[in-house]
Amino acid sequence: METAGIVHDAVLWKPVGGGRVECDLCWRKCVMPEDERGYCYVRFNRGGKLYTENYGVVTALNVDPIEKKPFYHFLPGSTSLSISTVSCNFRCKFCQNWELSYFKELRGLEISPEEIANAAVREGCESVSYTYNEPTIFVEYAIDTAKEGKKRGLKNTFVTNGYMTPEAVDYVKGYVDAMTVGIKGSLNRDFYRKMMAVPDADVIKQTLLAIKEAGIHLEITDLLVTKYGDDLSSLSTFARWVVENLGEDVPFHVLRFFPDAQLRDAPPTSVALLEKAREVAKGEGLNYVYVGNVPGEDQNTYCPKCGNLLIRREGFSAEVVGLTADGRCSKCGTKIPVLLQRCHQHPRISLSFALSLSFSGLPRRQSVLGTTDLPLLSFFFLPLSFDRFVSFFSSLISRSITLNFLFTY
Ligand code: SF4
Repeated sequence: METAGIVHDAVLWKPVGGGRVECDLCWRKCVMPEDERGYCYVRFNRGGKLYTENYGVVTALNVDPIEKKPFYHFLPGSTSLSISTVSCNFRCKFCQNWELSYFKELRGLEISPEEIANAAVREGCESVSYTYNEPTIFVEYAIDTAKEGKKRGLKNTFVTNGYMTPEAVDYVKGYVDAMTVGIKGSLNRDFYRKMMAVPDADVIKQTLLAIKEAGIHLEITDLLVTKYGDDLSSLSTFARWVVENLGEDVPFHVLRFFPDAQLRDAPPTSVALLEKAREVAKGEGLNYVYVGNVPGEDQNTYCPKCGNLLIRREGFSAEVVGLTADGRCSKCGTKIPVLLQRCHQHPRISLSFALSLSFSGLPRRQSVLGTTDLPLLSFFFLPLSFDRFVSFFSSLISRSITLNFLFTY
């Protein structure tokens, strides 16, 4: 079998006889005969052992506001060095990052875990985020990087589809501090089968429980896909399950869908439906429900007991205004589930976006790594469609937030 990347030992697998191996990293639990690849394509059996070939192959690297992941209750107002590799264990027809997740060729820049951690410190980030494509399938590289980050006082976050096994959650425990789990269509099983090639969405609930059990900060997003996955009764059922099993304080983001990849016949989710969805989720008992991907929607965090404004958000900037240093409402003293950054009294008010949609040289990337003679970065992007990008731009400008756009294509 030909391989293109760095061949690295894989974790979480076992031999199952006849030279075959089973990968236990995600719920697909692929069984691979010799010289075969798993569903995600980057893990393969060679000589009765499991290897991965996307270790350290970086396809995107960017300094993002943590709110963009989104994390609203984890280090609000901080920045996170965000990285990705290629491929995915899902095949969502509407994937916004399909350039990465559908990708079967390994074309990226080899960057060591130490280099990533050093760059995050140099850029003033409080965390490293493993995002844009599914971090589960580059877990070896993510955890080696997380370990380097920990040595430097950084936190680590996963933006994941939640399809990792509980064994995988156990493997990352202690290194990954926060996870945003991206649910689609309110975890409706038919929707997952038809639109995402996922045979059994229910197993994700076991992963959510494992994340809670591991003590990892958890936020949930629910992408409502027009016509196919926007049924509010499914949302109601899922929100109730979250309250009953994970607790009423899990931040819950109802996200707007935009047509992309193979799903272009459905319009963006209507704002009216999203606002209704927010009320449904709140009605089930969730304390912190946000509508995402809609400029102008109220993104603030309020005290669920007295209504005091706790965190004010505009675009992707956040300002902590009503919390004490130990995370209590400054009016009524209610303990709020939020991890504050060390200097939260000095909120970030500027945003820096880097965007490249081509395989081209990137001055921003070079400055991040502090060198000028690096090979060209293969892929560098802002995971928003152009329409959404323009929409966000207009919204942010109207609020006089400082923007520093860096176009490199
Ligand atoms: S991580 Fe990849 S190889 Fe492993 S079970 Fe999931 S899809 Fe299969």
